[in-house]
Amino acid sequence: MKPGFSAVRSSSAILVAARGFGGLSLGLRTPRAPRYHGRVREADTGEGCEGWRALRLLACAWLTSVGCTPAASAPEPPPVLVFAVDGFDWEVIEPLMAAGRMPTLERLAARGVSGELKTMRPSSSPRLWTTLATGRLPEEHGILDFTKDDPAGGKELFVVSSDRKVKAYWDILSERGVSSTTLGWWVTYPVDPVDGVMIAQTNTLGAGMQKGSLVAGRTGQVWPPDDEEWVLATLERQDAALEGLMLELMGERREGLTPKQTRRWKQCGWALRADSTYVAVLQELLARGRRTRVTALYFGGTDVIGHRFWAAHDPAAFGLDEASPEVSAFGHVLSAYYEYVDRAMGEVLALFPAETSVLVVSDHGMTGLELEQLGDPPDFDKHTGNHHGKLVHGAFIAAGHGIRRAQAGEPRGPGNYLGHITDFCPTLLALVDVPLGGRMAGKPLETVLDAAFLAAHPVGRVETYDDPAWVAARRSDVVDQSEERREQLENLGYLGDDED
Ligand SMILES: [Zn+2]
Repeated sequence: MKPGFSAVRSSSAILVAARGFGGLSLGLRTPRAPRYHGRVREADTGEGCEGWRALRLLACAWLTSVGCTPAASAPEPPPVLVFAVDGFDWEVIEPLMAAGRMPTLERLAARGVSGELKTMRPSSSPRLWTTLATGRLPEEHGILDFTKDDPAGGKELFVVSSDRKVKAYWDILSERGVSSTTLGWWVTYPVDPVDGVMIAQTNTLGAGMQKGSLVAGRTGQVWPPDDEEWVLATLERQDAALEGLMLELMGERREGLTPKQTRRWKQCGWALRADSTYVAVLQELLARGRRTRVTALYFGGTDVIGHRFWAAHDPAAFGLDEASPEVSAFGHVLSAYYEYVDRAMGEVLALFPAETSVLVVSDHGMTGLELEQLGDPPDFDKHTGNHHGKLVHGAFIAAGHGIRRAQAGEPRGPGNYLGHITDFCPTLLALVDVPLGGRMAGKPLETVLDAAFLAAHPVGRVETYDDPAWVAARRSDVVDQSEERREQLENLGYLGDDED
């Protein structure tokens, strides 16, 4: 069996499915109708490009056999794959890349462009990731921080997806008949009914751990709802495998840690739990032949671990001895996590065709606090890695269809400012030929997109995608913010006490 692709666009119709030679299921739909099929046949994950081309040929042969016009067999456009990596910083990437320890990123950078997108302050992740998803400034999209005031006067509440006042790329793409999969993106709970798949990052509550995950037993985290059962089963599987994965990735937990150090170690575990679950869900979706035109996969551990272990990662800057307990226990942790993300990106990329447009994007970077900021004596249980104090831009790497290849001698990597985080959504839309909204703050990045691609795909614009009726219809009823739930989550160990 060969891998499937979920959608082939043509001028007048969209061909959905083609999931394997064993049991080809094909269906024709009109372009604006939802094209997503909740249940499809199982298919092997296959070997990327070759399988993709083979299926394309097969689909063309089928179209010919049922008498479609030649125009209908035009090759389908390559997919777009976004790796959304929180707090991804060149200060960590560069030395690892130079040592050959981030080979996936190195290969991407070598065949595309690499640099940074400028970010903005305040730099709380929900605010910035919503800017990335919408191309709009926070004052317009309405997600200003992790929490919002409770209208009933109670404790602060976490922001939820229905607090967003403008459409995100997944809403716009759905409206334009372009399917998408979004896994773990900030402020996506409860999930939106997209053309494709959405798996929420569900925030836990109160003043607790701010970075979310999938939460067992809660509805509203999976779109389409038909997938809920197996997605939540994936979570269970990841939970069962977590200890082994931690051991493999981070090594044995060191002896003699203080309770606070032990908690930081455990926080690495829940970051890995969230990230590895989204990766596993994507692998399962692809194994089921559920590829969409756009796929976005979020990793949060780079931020979570960067905050907690920066001093151990960069001991000289903190006057720490290599033999100190902080460094001997945690010195390897941040690098190990970056390597994990690189390996996961590599495994996912192997399931996509070679011509895929790949965007690696971050909301902000990360840097060390000054030693004086840790108090006297310095408290290394504080967040020694930080992005809130000053503007710290995040890494951006792109390669593949529609993307420029940096020329010899051209700037690369840290300090190579390719644009601003508001440009991300317009760039993504340009890659899939969807017009920009007139009120978007950014523009498609000419530093990133290939000139020939832009010439062949002129960027369209609509006045706005804003729609008061759409805003009014957004639901928030499935959001459970009860104290009881909070207690339960605390007991399960999902709540910590640090801000990310
Ligand atoms: Zn962030």
